[in-house]
Amino acid sequence: MSASKIQTQGAIHGHCLCGKAKIKATGVALSAGACHCQYCQRWSGGPLFTLDCGTEVKLDGACFISGFHSSEWAERGFCNNCGTHLFYRLKQNGRYFIPVGLFGPLKDLVFDHQIFIEQKPDWYCFSNKTSELTGDEIFALFTEESN
Ligand SMILES: [Zn+2]
Ligand SMILES: [Zn+2]
Repeated sequence: MSASKIQTQGAIHGHCLCGKAKIKATGVALSAGACHCQYCQRWSGGPLFTLDCGTEVKLDGACFISGFHSSEWAERGFCNNCGTHLFYRLKQNGRYFIPVGLFGPLKDLVFDHQIFIEQKPDWYCFSNKTSELTGDEIFALFTEESN
C-alpha cells in the first residue's frame, strides 16, 4: 500500500509521554494513515493516526510495556506507567502500526490513506486528499500480502 512512498533514512525514534518506553523503527514509509474503526475510536478517543512500521521495530523499556489482545487479529501495546498508546500489532505477520505522534515532527510525512472508512462517524471528516479503504478492503490487502 505504501511501497512507493519516501522512506526514512535510517531509524526513527519515538517515546511515550513519561519516556520509559522507547521505540526505534527502521525503513519506515513516511505515509500516515488514519483508522476510523470502532476499536481505535474507543482506544484513542477518536481516529488513530499511525505509521506502518513493518516488523523492524525495537521496543525499549519492556517492563513498562503492556499488551492487550484487542481482537483475534491484533494486539495493542501501551506504557503501563503513563498510559501512552504505543502500537497496534497484527498477530498474523507481526507488523507494527505506531501512533504518529510518538515520533515527534517528521519531515516529508504525508497523510494519504484512511481505513475502516465505513465506521467513521458522521460528525467529522478530513479535507486531506487521501485514499479511503473499508475494513473488508484492508483485510483483503493484508491477506494478499501475506500469501
Ligand atoms: Zn510512559
Ligand atoms: Zn482501527
